Amino acid sequence: MNVVKVLIQGYAHPGPRNTYVASPSCTLIISSGKKILVDPGANQELLSSRLKKEGLMPKNIDYIFLSHYHPDHVLATRLFPKQDIVDSEIIWRNDSEIYHKGKLPGTDIEIIKTPGHSSEHASLIVKTAEYGIVCVAQDLFWWEDGKQKSDSTKDLINLKDPFASNMKTLKVSRENILKIADWIIPGHGGMFKNPFK
Ligand SMILES: [Zn+2]
Repeated sequence: MNVVKVLIQGYAHPGPRNTYVASPSCTLIISSGKKILVDPGANQELLSSRLKKEGLMPKNIDYIFLSHYHPDHVLATRLFPKQDIVDSEIIWRNDSEIYHKGKLPGTDIEIIKTPGHSSEHASLIVKTAEYGIVCVAQDLFWWEDGKQKSDSTKDLINLKDPFASNMKTLKVSRENILKIADWIIPGHGGMFKNPFK
């Protein structure tokens, strides 16, 4: 069975003097002997220390999954120069682009396209013993620190997203995931139970 562990809970808040501070939820998935990191984020120092806490070095990670290409989600991939990068469609290996079949390579974990926040956005569906079906949904659902959604399904579907590329598509993607997942890991904010279930 798969194991999911949130190494860093995503955060997002205004910083001093017109700056903004954000890094997404970074999740370690252990599946069929593979260690996969979802969205390394933008805080290399914190990620290194959280990996160390798990007894891991960056070289122990088999490959990286990126939910989408917003910089705050991808900057810390610099810690993993040798690993493959997997996204909604492709395994990126040096200069080769290998189309996958909708699963994380070597696992039973489904990669589901969830466009709307950005056109290439994808989420993971992970079957676990501890939580049932976990969706690593990233920026399909996110909020600024202290502005957490209410627990109603309607509020979750209509959650505002100032960065959405297509709000209508985003709502459809959210509805699809809320039909499947028992627990959801949002892009910025704490893991929550799906109120629809
Ligand atoms: Zn984003």
